[in-house]
Amino acid sequence: MNNPAPEYRYLFGPVPSRRLGRSLGVDPVPFKTCTQNCLYCQLGTDAAQTLERKNYVPPEEILEEIRRWLTEGIAADYITISGSGEPTLHSRLDEIIEGIHRLTKIPTALITNGTLFWDPDVRKQCSLADVVLPSLDAGDPETFKKINQPHPNLSFERFVEGLILFRKEYSGPIWLEVFLCEGLNTDPDSITNLNRLIRKINPDKVQLNTAVRPTAHPHIRAVPPDILEQIAPQLHPKAEVIADFPKGRLEKSTQISEQIILETLKRRPCALDELADSLQLEPSLTAEYLQHLLKTNQVRIENRSGKFYFCAN
Ligand code: SF4
Repeated sequence: MNNPAPEYRYLFGPVPSRRLGRSLGVDPVPFKTCTQNCLYCQLGTDAAQTLERKNYVPPEEILEEIRRWLTEGIAADYITISGSGEPTLHSRLDEIIEGIHRLTKIPTALITNGTLFWDPDVRKQCSLADVVLPSLDAGDPETFKKINQPHPNLSFERFVEGLILFRKEYSGPIWLEVFLCEGLNTDPDSITNLNRLIRKINPDKVQLNTAVRPTAHPHIRAVPPDILEQIAPQLHPKAEVIADFPKGRLEKSTQISEQIILETLKRRPCALDELADSLQLEPSLTAEYLQHLLKTNQVRIENRSGKFYFCAN
């Protein structure tokens, strides 16, 4: 394989994001360090569950990598703080976001499960991002426990209260993701309860997602598109079903290496076309890299509703 590319410890992608287009990922906490252990997580089943905010990664090191990445000239629609854990667990999140804004005009997005928004410091730091994408998958404490498997000291009421407070304090856009799992939170009562809370939170958008990619627990089933379309107008604001990543004609990049593909797949399973599009790489070359990664047992293929996803081993 050609194209030796610089390696990044805290950046990945740009990955194809159904909500953010081409999204350069920033990973500020160690692998699967999270406040929850969701059934639908794409990062495996063993979460290092914690509520402790720490300086997990020096912001200076993350910003240095972004500075280096910017010199490579690869396009991105957003720089997204998310990665392989819950980013609000980083105690210096504000320095990371402010530092990115100093380096580039590319807008910042923060993908968070929102469970720490009851903490005023967390709300203040998160409000620095250009767009915030929190999650709410349950309208009652039992469903919350079942789907999100939160840290034992996380209360559902406090979590929802945090989301409501954040809305009052943050003037930027809030796009609330609701992840629906067939048979777990799709019955009429679950939707009614969810809608009651969504009205209180008052996000700018509600976005319905489901298990289109391989999840930690293989028994989690995707909600069929027609059911998602039926549920969408029952929520207020009316939810949008997140469409598949658009396929655009992109120029071949010379900056992509097998290592970057592997780092991307560690955080998110992708289909071949998604990888090629988001990394601005010829599909044939992407296939070549993937073939080698398969041969060397670094990735595997999983079939999800007839679409083949590459996942890191
Ligand atoms: S899906 Fe997100 S919030 Fe849930 S366990 Fe995985 S990283 Fe944490």
